[in-house]
Amino acid sequence: MDLDLMLDNITNGIEMSKELFRYLHQHPELSFKEYQTREFIKEQLQHYGYEDIQTNVGGGGIIARLVGGQEGPTIAFRADIDALAIHEETNLPYKSVNDGVMHACGHDAHTAILLSVAKQLINYQTEIKGTIVFLFQHAEEVKPGGAISILKSGALDDVDKIFGLHVRGELPFDGAVEYCHGYALAASDTFNIRIQGNGGHAATPHKTVDSTVVAAFLVQQLQTIVSRNKNPLDSGVVTVANFHSGGGAGNVISDYATLSGTVRTYNPELRQMIKQRIHELTEHICQAHGATAVVDYLDGYPPLINHFEETELIHHLFETQFGQERVFETEARMGGEDFAYYLEKIPGSFYYIRAGAFEEENYPHHHPKFQIDEDCLQVGIETILTIIHHYHFSKVGVLQ
Ligand code: MN
Repeated sequence: MDLDLMLDNITNGIEMSKELFRYLHQHPELSFKEYQTREFIKEQLQHYGYEDIQTNVGGGGIIARLVGGQEGPTIAFRADIDALAIHEETNLPYKSVNDGVMHACGHDAHTAILLSVAKQLINYQTEIKGTIVFLFQHAEEVKPGGAISILKSGALDDVDKIFGLHVRGELPFDGAVEYCHGYALAASDTFNIRIQGNGGHAATPHKTVDSTVVAAFLVQQLQTIVSRNKNPLDSGVVTVANFHSGGGAGNVISDYATLSGTVRTYNPELRQMIKQRIHELTEHICQAHGATAVVDYLDGYPPLINHFEETELIHHLFETQFGQERVFETEARMGGEDFAYYLEKIPGSFYYIRAGAFEEENYPHHHPKFQIDEDCLQVGIETILTIIHHYHFSKVGVLQ
């Protein structure tokens, strides 16, 4: 099979990919509740001619398999399908019709890209060496996420390699792709702290335990975990994102205060240390002031660590296919992704395509005006076809 011919077909069929993208963008659904989206994906796959389709995998995942006519490896490609609880503020003609729900992270593009590849590939079934696994994953945005339950279901037990892509909406679309060696995205934990004081009249502080003062002190002290306890060469973030205390009246000392935030790390020992320090500081600061506290610490996704061989492979495949000037190595970030779970079990790599709709400033992911350039769909499709061509159509080196 000629890769260039397959890419030509994609160019001819790009309008269909854009239609898929617009439909998905217009009909976003929240994590774990992607009912219509899942139905739509299943119908599309059936319409293309797929018969081996598993639904409700690990709760809400969809897996379609294309078993080729010849021996070869089993390679999986993952698209996430869920949207966010955000009210869309773009002026797109295909703006969300589901009030308060928006595809503001590009998962609509990921799904449209993978469906387009599935549509194209079924024409080559007899030529394919091995099996291509199209994995549409529910609930990437909300913990515990869909990936872990899909893995636990055993549906990917036979998979030799796995790849995933993510659009980068904050960088202008320019046809470029980005790979990342090793650590790519951080472990993302969350914490909620409730500080119980003893409320009372604002004019008699000596008869109260002022939860606002204790909480304010704690916010300051939590900063010392990163600045004083952490090795400066190790990456880590502790952010207190919410602080609530009091109920509005200016003459009342608040009975309790709540804090919540996120912890981002790569090193598992650092992750453990930060968790422990949050508990210790909270307990002792509260004790020092006569308050008590409950810390609810929730372990999130593990860090996403790309495998060296597969990352080097896509680096070289992309350079050969797109030219060096369109392929970049990118740095680790402190965001999180549940694709990390797959990479704990299966060798593979997670890469990016630049996708921002605007030439200069683009809105960040999860912003109500987040917008991507539809032309990135073609690049996404080309990257997956390039990987598939290597594993399933090449004459030599099938399992690299
Ligand atoms: Mn995302």
